[in-house]
Amino acid sequence: MRQAPCATCATPSVGKRIVIAGGGYAGTTAAVNLGRKLKGRSDVEIMLIEPNAHQQALSELDLVAVGPARAEFCELWLARVFKNLPVTVCYNRVTSVNPASHSVTVGSHGVTTGEVDYWRLVLATGAVAFVPPVPGLAEHAVTMWSVADAQELQRRGEVQFRVAAKLDPIDRPRALSFTVIGGGATGIEIVGTLAELLPKRIHTFGLDRSDLRIRLVEGRPDILYDLPQQLRERTKRHLAKLGVELITGSMVSRVERDTVHLENGSVIDSSVLVFCGGAKAEPSALEWGLEADASGRLVVSEVCKAPGYDDIYVVGDISAFRDTETGRTIPMLAQFAIREAEHTAKNILRELRCEQPTPFPSGMHGEFVSAGPRWGIGWMFGLNLSGIPAIIMKRLTYVLYWLQVGGILLAVRRTREMLKMQR
Ligand SMILES: Cc1cc2nc3c(=O)[nH]c(=O)nc-3n(C[C@H](O)[C@H](O)[C@H](O)COP(=O)(O)OP(=O)(O)OC[C@H]3O[C@@H](n4cnc5c(N)ncnc54)[C@H](O)[C@@H]3O)c2cc1C
Repeated sequence: MRQAPCATCATPSVGKRIVIAGGGYAGTTAAVNLGRKLKGRSDVEIMLIEPNAHQQALSELDLVAVGPARAEFCELWLARVFKNLPVTVCYNRVTSVNPASHSVTVGSHGVTTGEVDYWRLVLATGAVAFVPPVPGLAEHAVTMWSVADAQELQRRGEVQFRVAAKLDPIDRPRALSFTVIGGGATGIEIVGTLAELLPKRIHTFGLDRSDLRIRLVEGRPDILYDLPQQLRERTKRHLAKLGVELITGSMVSRVERDTVHLENGSVIDSSVLVFCGGAKAEPSALEWGLEADASGRLVVSEVCKAPGYDDIYVVGDISAFRDTETGRTIPMLAQFAIREAEHTAKNILRELRCEQPTPFPSGMHGEFVSAGPRWGIGWMFGLNLSGIPAIIMKRLTYVLYWLQVGGILLAVRRTREMLKMQR
């Protein structure tokens, strides 16, 4: 039975433009999925608006932050991803959303370049690092939210290796004191990689493992609150084996050039400080007149649309999707960004066929965290894993993503590169 045409589809189908703002995990996935399905359709246009020429695959950042990966390992060039797909990439930023005229304003550095009309808009502008107003923190810590951050950590490390190499052995631990603030997944990944790889790096500078101090500071009493207790304990044992000193239960109160002060009065030497304590939704979204929750993420319905706007989808970290079973907002994770984007692409295709969009099934099937290039922990379908099986599962998620957005060639090339690093 043919359905009666809906109001949108009753209008001439020439020039239906799907605009996607943000080319991270969510935006790139949505554009690839739509591009593959709409190849050959002259009545639908897909435009991705993203300021960077490449997607930064943030979940692979730890391998760049300490080495051995080069920056390119986390970068997916958009021109290559969309080479054979009907997706136009506009290298710019969305500066405002104008629901009344179904358009977005595009520009950068305060200069407006133009307006782009949309039939459907997908907002996927992600999140940024959140640094709390602790005195000295923003000034002295490097955050971990971009390839540039990862390179900055590498640079600071290199400077300290050179400084330490010129010092008497007794003074070296001060110069080689690395502190990571934040015992969530990102902090654990960074500290684990530091602890495993730094001893090899400093060796080439004539320095020894005993010269290093690596600490993880977490204000709450424990680390990795999203994971079961048994996995947290295993992680703590693993970090202890790697020589990481774990300091929990006291918040950072002040940071100076080479020291971190805690609320309990302790003072820690810290020549290189990394802050992995939080993230917040990309703040410009708050200026777009859409409903946001208290944390600044945009509120969405069960089909990932902005309430009151039938033609605006919001996906990925910027979206505050509430799990219908738990009532909790789903965490900022690549796995959700990718799944929301895949589902949204399907919903847009449904709407093109005049069918109703379906709710996003937000249940979590598993989560994996690495602590160094060769060790991980996590769970899937109720089964806890640690060590090599967990790291294999974590790296497999990368391979699946490369396969999905870049095809078999990219997946094979990157997998080879990754396997070399595991040795
Ligand atoms: C170090 C680190 C490790 C992580 N590890 C994991 C992990 O192991 N597993 C996991 O599931 N998740 C992990 N995450 C979280 C994961 O990376 C994010 O959840 C994911 O990146 C969200 O995807 P997104 O597309 O919503 O946003 P992003 O990937 O951040 O992309 C947003 C894009 O929007 C663009 N943009 C911003 N503003 C505008 C604008 N106004 N106009 C146009 N474009 C704009 C940005 O340039 C960016 O390219 C990690 C995050 C970090 C920082």
